Amino acid sequence: MKPIIDIHEHVFRGEDIPLKGFLLSRKYEWYISLFAPILFAVIAECVRREKAQKRGFICGLVLELVYKYMGQGYRNWADILSIKEVADVALRMIETFDKDGIELYVPLMIDYEYWFKSTQEPSIAYQIDAVYRDIVLPYKGKIHPFAPFDPARELAHRAKLPGPDYPDDGPPEKYSSLELVKDAIRNKGFIGVKIYNTLGYRPLGNALVDNERRRIFRDNKMKRYIDFTGEQFDQVLSELYEFCVQEQVPITAHCVSNGVEAYPGASFDFGNPVFWQEVLDRFPDLRLNLGHFGWSHPDGYYPKAHWRRIINQSILRIQKTVKMRSYRALTEPSRAGGEKTWVREICEMLVRYRHLFADVAHHGVVEDKDIEKYKAAYKAICADFPGAIRKRLLFGIDWHVITRVANYQNFKDKYVEVLKDGDLFTDDEVDDFLGGNALHFLGLLPLDTKPEDGWTGNRKRLQSFYEANQIEPPAWFTSTA
Ligand SMILES: [Zn+2]
Repeated sequence: MKPIIDIHEHVFRGEDIPLKGFLLSRKYEWYISLFAPILFAVIAECVRREKAQKRGFICGLVLELVYKYMGQGYRNWADILSIKEVADVALRMIETFDKDGIELYVPLMIDYEYWFKSTQEPSIAYQIDAVYRDIVLPYKGKIHPFAPFDPARELAHRAKLPGPDYPDDGPPEKYSSLELVKDAIRNKGFIGVKIYNTLGYRPLGNALVDNERRRIFRDNKMKRYIDFTGEQFDQVLSELYEFCVQEQVPITAHCVSNGVEAYPGASFDFGNPVFWQEVLDRFPDLRLNLGHFGWSHPDGYYPKAHWRRIINQSILRIQKTVKMRSYRALTEPSRAGGEKTWVREICEMLVRYRHLFADVAHHGVVEDKDIEKYKAAYKAICADFPGAIRKRLLFGIDWHVITRVANYQNFKDKYVEVLKDGDLFTDDEVDDFLGGNALHFLGLLPLDTKPEDGWTGNRKRLQSFYEANQIEPPAWFTSTA
């Protein structure tokens, strides 16, 4: 029996992230940009206010305009982001997906503070503790999160520089990001690390993007972090990878070009999956999951329609010539630029690196108009890369970010429909996708597994964690021992 494991979702509240800074980092029509600073301050404040009925007239009105502009789905998301207690966010997740038989949820925590214009949030240490106390312990083995790592926070801590909320003469950054990660893994029931390259750092090789990274700090009025060098970023990241290999801790990296990023197009400077190759060459035992499979658009894989790429290439060439590299062109250079798409790039890497995985979080399979495209794409992938994905594809929904999409509740059924189409995946391979592969990625294999056959680190840690906290090990845990 293989358990069903959702490897990728989120439980943060609006209060936990620099919402206003994030909104300010995006590109908008001129009439919105004009009012952006005030508008986004109001929106952020309103979203953080609990429950629609308590928001008051102004907030109600502003948010209605936002939904009109962005789409009605944002209403669902804003309501979840407004929830006051993180335990209630988790409860909402479980109530939504228990129908899918999910036995283990793996929420990914995020640490955005150093990469967007700053506003006051509860400290990341407080957030980790709240998740431990209010979610991990009470849910007794049903929820085991990933802890966030931020190399900028680590460097600020080492240089004794103040955190983003403080002036230059403020108190030094209190928390070592690496120590927070280690403590969460060793003592708090966390089972992995989340990395977010599109915020402004590569997995390694950061000297090549010194200018781009420094521009982020300058634009966000955090000039004191400009002195950090690419080598220093590589150094703290290497220390993280060493720890992860030594203690058998998996990493999930955000890997898609149209999600959260430091500035429009930053994904391409920092987030391309090929940047991970150096890490996987240097740390061949590392278990890495490239979140979202690098797949941002239903046509992302190009099952056929070669001609379309040729047309897109010509369009880009013309755009470059007349110097109008529009945001659209920037967001889809792999489609328009004739380079390999990220999905294809990852497929090639899956062949080359045996401990690399990819999760399917947030793919647009719940939309009827797109599901056929995913079916065609998977057929093409399985033909182009025989045997490459069946043992490496991981199930994840990306709740609550996905609540903006209609019918997101059907994500699991729709994804299974895609993979089973034309008997592409057998029942057993579907079970691997839904949880069997995750046991390998997470290092939850039985304790007598030989080291060359896989990791058992998290099984060992969770066993002691359950004992120490008098938690009866859940069925998914004992049935896979
Ligand atoms: Zn996500």
